[in-house]
Amino acid sequence: MIEVIERMKRKDPYEKEFHQAVEEVFGTVRPVLERYPDYRRSAILERLIEPERLIQFRITWLDDAGQVHVNRGYRIQMNGAIGPYKGGLRFHPSVNLSILKFLAFEQVFKNALTTLPMGGGKGGSDFDPKGKSDTEIMRFCQAFMMELFRHVGPDTDVPAGDIGVGAREIGYLFGMYRKLRNEFTGVLTGKSLGWGGSLIRPEATGYGNVYFASEMLATRSDTLAGKTCLVSGSGNVAQYTVEKLIDLGAKVVSMSDSSGFVYDEAGIDREKLAFVKRLKNVRRGRIREYADKYPNAVYTEADPQLDFNPLWDRPAQCAFPSATQNEISGKDAQNLLRNGVFLVSEGANMPSTPDAIDIFLANNVLYAPGKASNAGGVAVSGLEMSQNSMRLSWPREEVDSRLKTIMKSIHKTCLDAAAEYGKPGNYLIGANIAGFVKVVNAMIDQGIV
Ligand code: GLU
Repeated sequence: MIEVIERMKRKDPYEKEFHQAVEEVFGTVRPVLERYPDYRRSAILERLIEPERLIQFRITWLDDAGQVHVNRGYRIQMNGAIGPYKGGLRFHPSVNLSILKFLAFEQVFKNALTTLPMGGGKGGSDFDPKGKSDTEIMRFCQAFMMELFRHVGPDTDVPAGDIGVGAREIGYLFGMYRKLRNEFTGVLTGKSLGWGGSLIRPEATGYGNVYFASEMLATRSDTLAGKTCLVSGSGNVAQYTVEKLIDLGAKVVSMSDSSGFVYDEAGIDREKLAFVKRLKNVRRGRIREYADKYPNAVYTEADPQLDFNPLWDRPAQCAFPSATQNEISGKDAQNLLRNGVFLVSEGANMPSTPDAIDIFLANNVLYAPGKASNAGGVAVSGLEMSQNSMRLSWPREEVDSRLKTIMKSIHKTCLDAAAEYGKPGNYLIGANIAGFVKVVNAMIDQGIV
């Protein structure tokens, strides 16, 4: 195991985020490797960290002023042992191979936990959608799909959204795919309702995370009612996390974007949330405008000099990091504990640094790793694929009830695996081991390929 990790670091020394994700998973599966010595002979660890296929391509597009731009596009088909590759596309200037390999690696285990037949993949571009016009976004998405269409398909690889890719981008991507292939199939998920999308898909990641948190609290005979909650982010995941928390009687006091965060001690109610949805989804503005509209809220500009985020230094009982990777440092974790937080349920992918996770686990925090707690999004993507294949669409209640059942099942799977391996209540170990065993058994069944 150590040698595999060392070799990976020597080969690709700059892929820090990928190393972090691999070390987090491999650091917890040693007891499984001891129980099944066959895994070593099958070089399972080496196979899991080597993408089955990695596509990198040039995207050339024209801005509104007639200037040509070049961006990098990627699709990583990480592991297809249990189904077509499945995972989102991220458009953000920070996108590089390290970020996408970490996301693809996480996605493999997350998708395995959903109980649905989906392999793991991820893709995206270093394109920055901030400040771009609608026509520029359309031209970029079309240029992206002009290459990607060769590599994806409803039974091969089914991309979806992630940071910077929402319903608008999925629409433009789908339009170009349909034109190039002359085919109307479920090649993307997160589509709009009128042309193949699933009800509850926009809500699924946030709702699913809150369902998971409720399950964790139930193990301590507790509920979310009356809890003060910190939420970071203000995109799709954060918005529907806040919505479900309000539904369940919790009080949410924060939201953020990359420029800063708002703290609203009175709580973000339905009307204020509707304002955030309009602000972010329609007007595409900054969260600071929340404090202009609701002057009792305080806006704090992000300060890159600080080694902590003041958002995590406010009194609360529960935290739902829903912005991006490594947004909770060790110091943030200490601050959360000092302020009374005893539940952390991850809406983003890998938002807690390894130091933060150690602190949560050492202090008996109900800590849910993203690959378990944010799996509701991709789970409903799986349900969207099923509906597309059947050419029908399920009502809202049906999708929501399936989502609830899936989140309950992931919660139980994590707890069962953790108990089986002598770490009761440790969701990190439970999620990693359960996802790992499912994928690895499929790989072994399918031989040396
Ligand atoms: N990007 C989301 C995730 O991290 C959703 C992926 C999907 O729906 O395929 O799981």
